[in-house]
Parts: sequence; C-alpha cells; structure tokens
Amino acid sequence: MKPYAIGIDVGGTKIAAGLVGRDGKILHRFTTRAHAEQEPELVIKAIEQAYRAIVKEGRVEAANIEAVGLGFPGNTNGPAGLVLVSSNLPAWDHFPLRDVVAERLGLPVILDNDTNLCAVGEHRYGAGQGAKNMCYVTFSTGIGIGIIINNRLYVGHTGTAGELGHVVIDIGGPPCTCGKNGCVMAYASGVGISRMAYEKVEAGVDTQLRQMVPPDGRRFSGEQVVEVAQRGDKAAREILETAGFYCGVGLSMIVQIINPETIVIGGGLSRIGSMVLDPALVAMREHTQPELWDSVRVVPWQLGDDLGIIGAAAKAFADAEAGLA
Ligand SMILES: [Zn+2]
Repeated sequence: MKPYAIGIDVGGTKIAAGLVGRDGKILHRFTTRAHAEQEPELVIKAIEQAYRAIVKEGRVEAANIEAVGLGFPGNTNGPAGLVLVSSNLPAWDHFPLRDVVAERLGLPVILDNDTNLCAVGEHRYGAGQGAKNMCYVTFSTGIGIGIIINNRLYVGHTGTAGELGHVVIDIGGPPCTCGKNGCVMAYASGVGISRMAYEKVEAGVDTQLRQMVPPDGRRFSGEQVVEVAQRGDKAAREILETAGFYCGVGLSMIVQIINPETIVIGGGLSRIGSMVLDPALVAMREHTQPELWDSVRVVPWQLGDDLGIIGAAAKAFADAEAGLA
C-alpha cells in the first residue's frame, strides 16, 4: 500500500487538485482556471500541470502515489474510463480520458462522475462512514446522487446510475435542460430556482427579485433568492419551499428504491439550510412508507468544499485496495 493518492476535481469553472494521505487529509493543493467546458487537449494539459505541480511542491515521489483519481462533471462511464458527454462539445463524446491521462502521467488513473466520487469520499472519510448502503445527494446547480451498495460504488450498466435530477416528477411540467419536461432538476436545483424566479417576475408578482434580474438572461443565483427570502420576500420564500419540496420527493424515491441506511446531503444549495431542508424533510416523510422512513437517517455532508478532491482520492485508494487501479 502506498501512502498517497492525488485527487483531481475537474469542475465547470476550475480544476482543483490535492495530494491526499490515506487518512483522507489534504497535504498539498493546486488549482488552475482551466475547466471542463474546454476542449479535451486543454483540459488534459491542465490536469498534467496540476499533477506535476503537486508532485514537485508537495515533495512526493511518484513511487509513493497509489493512483490519480479524476472527477468529471456530467455523464461518465467510470469502469470504461470514458467521458460520455460534456458541455455540448462533440470532442468529448465517448472520450477515453482515463487512459489518455494515465499514459501522460505514467500512473494508474481512475475516472468517474464527480457526484459518484463525492459519495465515495463521504462514505470513506465523512458523514457516511460505517454505512454499508448509502447515497450521497448533491444539491447544487443540478441534483444527482452517488450510490454505495455493499460498501462499493454502484454505477449501473453504462456508468450513469443515479441520475435523480432527470427523473420526471411532474408529467407535462416545465422544460428541463435535458430536453424532457418536469424533471426533479426543473425544480430542485439552482437551475430550477432561477427558472422559478424568472417565472415570478414575468407573472408580475410583487417581489424584490424584480430589482435583481441578472443581465443577459443569465441565471439568478441561489444566493440572490436566499438573500431576498431572508428579508421576508414571500415569492422568494415560496421558490425555496418549492425547490425543497421536490428535493424531498426525490429523497423519498431514493429511499423507496435503494433503501439506504444513510443519505448524506451536500452541495452548495444544502448550505441554504432550513429554508429548503425543512420542506424537503416534510415532503420526504409524506412520500415515504413509514417502515422505510424509520430505516434511514438523513445527515449533512462533512467534507464540504474539499469533497471533490478527497472523493477522487478516496476512489483511487478504494480501487487499489480492490485490485482494480
Ligand atoms: Zn431533465
């Protein structure tokens, strides 16, 4: 067993990397402004740069690194090492990112969707420790889950299990970014919150959101809606309640289908706290059979902003231990 792994979180606005010890602590960090919405070659170069900076500045020998974990937003097929689609750039379609990076670095690389790796991180080092069956819910710009079954990440047949955000929950409901209508994400996400904010403004509702409409039709941020809600704005409060309600119905689906002992809720929107989480728990309880409700505990994430890095490293350690990396 080697003492370190490197976790690299390829996000939509930056790439964050860290040298992680077997205890889950980050020993050294590196961040670049490259991001997943760029062409593959740029992203690969940035990953390579991050790796080399960490090895050099962290003064670690490559021989002491178990593997590199790579988290990627969007759909991936982790076991096959592929990015399936990313940010409407055709160059990413079925791109073999794992093997290309492994070749450049000369080290084993594991690749998976960022939410899946967050599930592994919270399971190994955070709020999901000790739970044999667990789900991690990321509640942020989108909403999705990572599923741990029998202490192992479950990714499904083509790697895309856990797409809770695009489960249709309101037949004939509002359009979603995926092209369908009435998905969980059309309500319970940053995208959904912004859509509802525009809807209130356009419907002529009396709300302070009207003075905050972002330029060029860009998204309202969750923080803007929270800020207005905290000032007592009725429309903003209703939006957060609705987002929470649909999040809660989504949570009940997880319990009904997976029957996990722990659900860990994380992601930027979980920070809003009770204005979305209270209605979420009420809706979850209302839509879950009592015997299943009694079997599950819902807890907040523990690793916060470091989870992307720690989760990627956690999967690298876990795969090495299982003889897969
Ligand atoms: Zn959808």
